[in-house]
Amino acid sequence: MEKKQFERPYIKKLQAGMPSKFGMKSKPEPITHIDDNSVADLIGEFGSPLFVISEKTIRETYKKAHHAFATRYPKVQFAWSYKTNYLDAVCRIFHQEGSWAEVVSGFEYDKALANGVKGSQIIFNGPDKNDEDLKKAVGNDSLIHIDHFDEMYSILALSEKLGKKPKVAIRVNMDTGVYPMWDRFGFNYENGDAWDAINRIMINEKLELVGLHAHIGTYMMSADSYKIAAGKLADLAHGVEKKYGIHIRYIDMGGGFASRNTLKGAYYPGTDTTPSFEEYAEAISSALLNSELDPRKLPTLILETGRALIDDAGWLLGTVIANKRLSSGNRATIVDVGVNLMFTSFFYEHEVYPAAPVSEHLEETTLYGPLCMNIDVLREAIAFPLLKKGDHFVIKRIGAYNMTQWMQFITLRPNVVLIDLEGKSHIIRKQETIENITQQEVLPAYLA
Ligand SMILES: *Cc1c(COP(=O)(O)O)cnc(C)c1O
Repeated sequence: MEKKQFERPYIKKLQAGMPSKFGMKSKPEPITHIDDNSVADLIGEFGSPLFVISEKTIRETYKKAHHAFATRYPKVQFAWSYKTNYLDAVCRIFHQEGSWAEVVSGFEYDKALANGVKGSQIIFNGPDKNDEDLKKAVGNDSLIHIDHFDEMYSILALSEKLGKKPKVAIRVNMDTGVYPMWDRFGFNYENGDAWDAINRIMINEKLELVGLHAHIGTYMMSADSYKIAAGKLADLAHGVEKKYGIHIRYIDMGGGFASRNTLKGAYYPGTDTTPSFEEYAEAISSALLNSELDPRKLPTLILETGRALIDDAGWLLGTVIANKRLSSGNRATIVDVGVNLMFTSFFYEHEVYPAAPVSEHLEETTLYGPLCMNIDVLREAIAFPLLKKGDHFVIKRIGAYNMTQWMQFITLRPNVVLIDLEGKSHIIRKQETIENITQQEVLPAYLA
């Protein structure tokens, strides 16, 4: 029999065996496999740390979300938010499922085109679109969501030069009862700016107003705020019908649905508090269907949901480097995954699981990454079993934003693997090498 791992004794307040509101104390169940691939084998083949994405989970989550809306509203279109995860393999799965592309920069726009998305199915958001970007978008009949008046004037000038009538929407910001309000993007509803923008577009006749857009925030825990937002956009669209006799073709509710991750400091886990797709869909569709909009010419409902569609499909696998006691006596476990790869650890209390069966003794542990930075903390305090050097672990729900907001800092970024529907693994982004990084550097001759 293998010698058991020594665990240092420690003193802990005795918890009576009563179930608390979180239920009985539970032993951490390890995550040993992801879509039938063993974690140990994946790390053996592709190294540690390792990002793993499940195609099955992406497709299932997308279908669930689409179903929730399509059963409540007659015309629904999703557009994949590129900044949430723009690895081509991921984008193409969403496009295969029927998603258009939602981009917020010239770089993302080009990525969407390269992924085979038709220009007319690319939604161009964001405050920073330069003339080159706009020229391309106008030429390809893309849907340009105007963020500010300066952008409107640029598009007007371009439309004259190109002799084309650009298809535009305006981004509208508004009070939805959730604060702080995101009022830095688009035109405000309450103060009349949104109407001002609409009137200038309509009277000018050089632009075609096809849609109205709002993206009220991110990780919005309140489905009600969407009801308010949808009601206000419907009100604007109805106003346009009445005043100009045209029907707005689409209402775009943006993204922002909460994923099932737990926010830092939250009292209950995200899995218990996050509204379901059905609740969001109910809120939005009831606001639109019960509005004054002409029921024979209802606008298409566009959704740019990001994190709620991809978070569950991503895992980050890693390996323990060391354990130590802090001067406070608290246990610290140092792992090979740092905040450079886990940007979302600044906001979320990510769930971390051992990758093999472990002792049931949990101790409050701080999980540190490998960077030489005091802020490199994955979890400040997690009830965690003792994992020894070389043991593997799995971080859950990391599919959103980490693979776009990661930084090349101190270490190189690792492989990203996609597990397909048959359970086969494919590298979809190669581990970086020192050459990848230094090839961008230029050494002045006198230093060579
Ligand atoms: C980031 C973003 C999204 C996606 O947001 P999530 O919170 O990830 O759903 C959608 N639309 C716009 C305009 C965005 O900026």
